[in-house]
Amino acid sequence: MFKRVLIANRGEIACRVGRTCRALGIEYVVVYTEADASSPHLHGAAHAICIGQGPAALSYLDGARIIATAIEFGCDAVHPGYGFLSENSEFAEAVAAAGLTFVGPRPETIAALGDKARAKALMHEAGVPVVPGGGDASDDPEAVEAIVRSVGLPALLKPSAGGGGKGMQIVETFDGLREAVASAIRVARSSFGDGRLIVERYIEQPRHIEVQVFGDSQGNVVHLFERECSLQRRHQKVVEEAPAPSLPESLRQRLVDSAVRGARSLGYLNAGTFEFIVGRDQSFYFLEVNTRLQVEHPVTESITGVDLVEWQLRVASGEPLPLQQDAIRCEGHAMECRIYAEDPAREFRPSPGQVQVVCWPEGVRVEAGVASGGVVPPYYDPMVAKLVTHAVHRSAALQRMRSALEGTLLLGLTSNIGYLLRVLANPGVHAATVHTRYLDENASLFSAGGKPALAAACVAVVEASRDGLDGHRGTWCDVGSLDRGGLAPAAPLGHTHVWSDGVMYSCAWLARSALGYNLAVEGEVHDIHAVQTARASGVA
Ligand code: ADP
Ligand code: ADP
Ligand code: MG
Repeated sequence: MFKRVLIANRGEIACRVGRTCRALGIEYVVVYTEADASSPHLHGAAHAICIGQGPAALSYLDGARIIATAIEFGCDAVHPGYGFLSENSEFAEAVAAAGLTFVGPRPETIAALGDKARAKALMHEAGVPVVPGGGDASDDPEAVEAIVRSVGLPALLKPSAGGGGKGMQIVETFDGLREAVASAIRVARSSFGDGRLIVERYIEQPRHIEVQVFGDSQGNVVHLFERECSLQRRHQKVVEEAPAPSLPESLRQRLVDSAVRGARSLGYLNAGTFEFIVGRDQSFYFLEVNTRLQVEHPVTESITGVDLVEWQLRVASGEPLPLQQDAIRCEGHAMECRIYAEDPAREFRPSPGQVQVVCWPEGVRVEAGVASGGVVPPYYDPMVAKLVTHAVHRSAALQRMRSALEGTLLLGLTSNIGYLLRVLANPGVHAATVHTRYLDENASLFSAGGKPALAAACVAVVEASRDGLDGHRGTWCDVGSLDRGGLAPAAPLGHTHVWSDGVMYSCAWLARSALGYNLAVEGEVHDIHAVQTARASGVA
């Protein structure tokens, strides 16, 4: 086993990898940037090395610098986390060339699968059903246009080198096709440095179901069941769960078999995820392979009891897979919510900034990359944490998640916590009848209510300004479904003003009961249940 690992990442995933290293008695070195100097991922490391300025291109994407750091500090392996250099085959190769172990698949596997066109061709050869489409990847507008005409409508334009749900475009009519293709090529070029597009048939109302696979250097390949990631916003996952709810057993079997067959055909090493979309008629199609640990890996860990980072490290060090297929069990149901510093009221624009107080809920798994007083820098993905619940049944895991979100206190930042609560209150989400465009098509159902949220904000202001009343100096309130709102902190007791979207609301505190508050916002009376957060008192 490795003696010392360099973690080439930041935020929650760097914390996550560090935790398993500590559990295995492996020392680790972390890298960070000037913007991340107070990040929790620095704790517990044998060494924390500043590798540059905030922007990722000057730091977390500087492979040569990271490898030099690993060598200088006596590391024998590099764990890339997800994002950044994790799917960069040249980096994986350079790590190996420097005599270090890259914790991930072989560079040639990463290279082959990083290109969606090549990945689909390989999977088609291996007998895995792929999304129907046409032609080769191309950045020639006329060629792409011709492919769209042969594939038929609706079609999907997708950057062949893409990821993170970025740059995809649905084509529903031939009108304006030329402009659509030209703009998709431009976006692909600017986002991924490669303008080539693939064209797929656009599958209507599909579910996104993916299979976690693992391979070792002895040639064993197993799966660790599937995850459902159909709750997406603009092709990006918001809530994930495992196993996929109400999936017919025969279909589940065909999905996991396809993933294992695909992985075997490649001699797949280490962790990987085979992503599929499943049509309404239960047909399923391979989308892509993510050659790394996935953001949503904790739901798989919850149902299987496996530490996937431990498996990654063991397999990378040459050990065989710790369990054979029939010893891997799926128990209960797990759910994950991604908490982002973003503003649901402003097209989910990232909302970086300083975090005043963070209190995570108790009794659930929390993967966090920020702490009280910390900063969410503007340079990186704005995901700040993940909450993970596990229960015998899906309904209990979902209910536990709602309480966990309600019990989360994240002050100072605008976040998507209120949005997540509204998503989890939705009947379609409860019934698991959703598809990948459900959140986008029903966006109005998930937007924040105006005045009740403002009333809750008033409670927060009033509480914060009570100063000494009941002996709770600086007690904060959980503002529940509030997404944002500029608060007027100096407001007099019992009466305050709340700014929201440029409008000032006048709020009167009418009465306080054992359970909460009776407030009037612009004359409209609301009962607000304010959760007293003794845990936060004195922190603010
Ligand atoms: P997952 O299925 O694990 O959620 P995502 O596709 O959402 O995978 O990507 C995980 C992380 O990696 C996100 O931070 C995303 O922004 C980033 N990412 C993935 N692929 C790319 C890419 N090709 N270019 C830039 N960022 C990427
Ligand atoms: P990325 O690398 O950006 O993650 P994917 O190919 O995995 O790209 O697709 C991301 C999401 O886009 C999928 O989860 C699904 O919601 C949607 N999607 C992708 N391809 C199709 C398709 N052919 N038809 C319908 N939806 C699709
Ligand atoms: Mg994907």
